[in-house]
Parts: sequence; structure tokens; C-alpha cells
Amino acid sequence: LKVKSNDKIDESTRMGVLVDVSGCVGCRNCEYACKVAHNLPAKDNEDFHKREVFDEFRRPSPASLTVVNEFDNPMNPLVPHNAKYQCMHCLEPACASACIVGAFEKKGNGAIVWNSDKCIGCRYCMVACPFQIPTFEFEVALKPNIAKCDFCYSRTEKGLLPACVANCPTEAITYGPRDEILLLAKKRIERYPEKYINYIFGENEVGGTSWIYIAPIEFEKLKFPVLGDKPAPGVTEAIQHGIFSYFIPPLALFGWLGGVMWMQKRKQQVEIQENEKEANHE
Ligand code: SF4
Ligand code: SF4
Ligand code: SF4
Repeated sequence: LKVKSNDKIDESTRMGVLVDVSGCVGCRNCEYACKVAHNLPAKDNEDFHKREVFDEFRRPSPASLTVVNEFDNPMNPLVPHNAKYQCMHCLEPACASACIVGAFEKKGNGAIVWNSDKCIGCRYCMVACPFQIPTFEFEVALKPNIAKCDFCYSRTEKGLLPACVANCPTEAITYGPRDEILLLAKKRIERYPEKYINYIFGENEVGGTSWIYIAPIEFEKLKFPVLGDKPAPGVTEAIQHGIFSYFIPPLALFGWLGGVMWMQKRKQQVEIQENEKEANHE
């Protein structure tokens, strides 16, 4: 089942993940599994006992599509809090609505997937994402790469679990239909009120996300952004409505970069077509 960028996803097929911060032990197996599943170098993850990695707060990057961070636990300093970060696969993804060439596709199960063939490198998605998730690299000249978690779409479409979920040794991450994992989150909070704060992050934030979280401490303390319930506007919509005016200078720059990229791609296409024509005449 495929849906186009602006279509609504059928709620009966939408999948999600419940991240239970209280169950995460910071082993970083999920980081390792994600790298292996995406053919990214994983050497730096081999020694999971190295805790120095937690000295600084990290965000997902082209080298690591998901990262685990650690936070002090004043109630029990020997057992810190750990939380995993990746694309939230928003129900109303600002990255997709900001992209002027439709390079993000909403898959039928809710995965938001980036398409390298369409991307012109304008980076509107980076500016629009309320979770600061898409990251950008130009490893090959004029071939932009927007890196973010793809919800392991190539695995889940075959009925496999996302690599991170399949390799988590605890019950910290659970994959399933979004309505069922939402119910599971509510039940855990109801059953163990002393263990969790009474809040499900992602149930309503920016219109709801496919990845949802429950935790023993406030989400601000885990460096989650404080967001309203309304879907984040796409960049172009934001400009139309006169908000985020401070984004205009970078947007002008990214727009110019996008224009250069588009012309280059167009030139390459014309060259390919001309070469094909010549080959057909020979
Ligand atoms: S978290 Fe950001 S990159 Fe991921 S779907 Fe939402 S807006 Fe897009
Ligand atoms: S769903 Fe796949 S791509 Fe996303 S964090 Fe997990 S392993 Fe990585
Ligand atoms: S694999 Fe599971 S327990 Fe280990 S860091 Fe990732 S989410 Fe936490």
C-alpha cells in the first residue's frame, strides 16, 4: 500500500513504536543494529562499555541515524536515565510539507521516507522539522544526502521488525499498530503510576507521531522539545503566514542552493537524453 505525500494514511495500517525510557539501559544495541542495517560504519559502537560517549548530548547524524543519550537520575544516581532519539515519523510531517519537490514520501505504514532522486538539496526539511532530525551531507559533489531514520521501511515491508527493535535486549522499544501501542502506553502508566509521569510524548505533539514515549521524568529533562498539538507548518506555509521571519536569510541561501542543484540535475538529464538519442541513431 502506498500513499502520496498529501494523502491521509489509513489508520488501520499505521504502525508505531513505544519507547519506554524506564526500560532503556543505555546499551546502544539499537544504534549498532541501525548502523549495520543501513551499511554505516559501526566500529565505534563495538565497545558498549565505553560510557564516555554519554558525556555530551548527541543528535542523530548521517553516521548514526539513531542515538542514545544519558541523563542523571537524582533519585538513584547509580541508575541513570537513557533515551533513544530518531525521526519521530510525524502523522503530519513538516519535512514533507516543506519539501518543494516532494522528496519525502509517506508510506502506508506511516514511515516517512526520503527519496534521493528527487532531492535538490534545498534543506527546507531541516529548517521545518520540529525535532531537528534531517541532517545533510554532500559527500559526492552535487549529490545531496539527507540522512534520517527511515523506520527500516525495507525491513518492515517484508514483515520484519525495525532493526533497533529487533535488537533491543529489554522491553524498552515495542513495535506495533500505533493505536495498540498507544493503548499499551496508557496501560503501563495506569498500572505503575509510581514509575511513570502521567504523559505520553507523541500522542498529540505536532498532530501526533508514530514513535511515542513514556518516561519516569519530565520530557524537558530529556531534552525533548516543548511543542503544541497543531501540526508544524511547512516552511513555505510559515513564510506565507509571516511567522518564523528569522528563517528567511537561510531559506534564501538554501533556495539558491536548491536552484543550482535543480539546474545541474536538469543539465545532467538533458545530457543523458542526448547521449541516448545519439546512441539510437548509431
Ligand atoms: S521528525 Fe522531522 S524528519 Fe521526522 S517525520 Fe517529523 S518532521 Fe519529518
Ligand atoms: S527504525 Fe530502523 S532506521 Fe529507524 S532508528 Fe530503528 S533501526 Fe534505525
Ligand atoms: S537497545 Fe534498547 S535498552 Fe539498549 S540503548 Fe537501545 S533502546 Fe535502550
